[in-house]
Amino acid sequence: MNVASAELAAAARDAAACRRCPLWANATQTVFGEGAGRARIMLVGEQPGDQEDLAGRPFVGPAGKILDTALQEAGIDRALVYVTNAVKHFKFIPRGKRRIHQKPDTGEIAACKFWLDIEREQVNPRLTVLLGATAARAVLGRTVTIGRERGRPIPLGPTPAGGDALAFVTVHPSFLLRLPDEAAKRREYAAFVGDLRHAAGLL
Ligand code: SF4
Repeated sequence: MNVASAELAAAARDAAACRRCPLWANATQTVFGEGAGRARIMLVGEQPGDQEDLAGRPFVGPAGKILDTALQEAGIDRALVYVTNAVKHFKFIPRGKRRIHQKPDTGEIAACKFWLDIEREQVNPRLTVLLGATAARAVLGRTVTIGRERGRPIPLGPTPAGGDALAFVTVHPSFLLRLPDEAAKRREYAAFVGDLRHAAGLL
């Protein structure tokens, strides 16, 4: 785990024993956020996947690899951002030897917001990039249709350090993995990189 400050490290330790919702029971471990402690950009995903659950680190699986490449192409140094998920335990159903991802429900998102709020308060980012509908619900507190709200700044109010915090909605990189053909993958990946570049330009 690579947590950014003493406060975040303490929160990550506390979260490891969290029982606020039932998702802890079947997962391997809590996957807390990591990255720069006073990052100007925070990236919020949905929940850890199979590989993140085993590694105990966010965005280390296939979607994380896409995210890394896209951040690089958008000119954003991952070492300078804080990455986390709206929900800190992997939700899945077993199918044979595989564990199939299940979307967290609104109760689980609301329960885990306790930890996301601590991360947001500690990191205090100027820009919060919401990767997909679950992250958007967790931070904006409402149902978000990605196609309608994608790609524009959404005010989050003043930060304690002064200035206004912004949110920016885009797709989750796992969406790109699920696209059926290569042409769609290329098109949507380019749009994703364009969103990240646009978001970074808001700083
Ligand atoms: S998903 Fe979040 S709220 Fe639920 S048990 Fe895990 S850390 Fe706690």
